[in-house]
Amino acid sequence: MERTERDFYARDPDDQQAFLTQTWCNTCMEADLGMKEPVEYEQNGIVFIEGKCVKCGDTVCTEIADDETDGEWE
Ligand SMILES: [Zn+2]
Repeated sequence: MERTERDFYARDPDDQQAFLTQTWCNTCMEADLGMKEPVEYEQNGIVFIEGKCVKCGDTVCTEIADDETDGEWE
């Protein structure tokens, strides 16, 4: 599947902070542990931020409902 890289750091600092702290880790089974090394990308019209769980280092992924996406919506 095609994956388009986006610039996470182009976001508003407050948004960045929110995305970095509002996480769900499937390994820890715990919310809001936080993530580090965030990478933002778009796939099938959905924006994701993927990073590593601050606690265990496993991959955590957040799906974003982004109204500002200027892609084509059906
Ligand atoms: Zn974790």
